[in-house]
Amino acid sequence: MICERVEQSRIGDFDTSGRHWVHVCGHRVALDFTACNLGGNRAWFLCPGCNRRCGVLYPLECRLCLGLRYASEAKGVQDRDYQQAFKLRHSLGQSSGGLEQPFPPKPRLMRWHTYLRIRKQAQAREARILGRLAAVLPHGLKQSDA
Ligand SMILES: [Zn+2]
Repeated sequence: MICERVEQSRIGDFDTSGRHWVHVCGHRVALDFTACNLGGNRAWFLCPGCNRRCGVLYPLECRLCLGLRYASEAKGVQDRDYQQAFKLRHSLGQSSGGLEQPFPPKPRLMRWHTYLRIRKQAQAREARILGRLAAVLPHGLKQSDA
């Protein structure tokens, strides 16, 4: 089951200042705190099932206790590659269209080294996507008809 579709209790929705526990759906859940780099500390639920620190309960146990997965984990490798390739293009300034669009030019303030690294990563993903698509096409439609 996908955890984004399950009722959630988020740590940010609770007042945790000066407390060692909070009431979640009528149950008392212990808190833990970790120090932040710039001072202060961050509150976490301690999962009642496994005592692991977590920021989200579903609604009373962590996603690992309930065997829940993130939506991205349920996607196939082709969808994840497509999403990552478009994310890389977006970081270079492409805001619309898909992978069939020409590759975006280097953004004005980006270093060439960064641009070329991101472009190389995106092209590697796109090559894998096209390779998988070519593998499922009927033999007569490969390359010559594209
Ligand atoms: Zn747990």
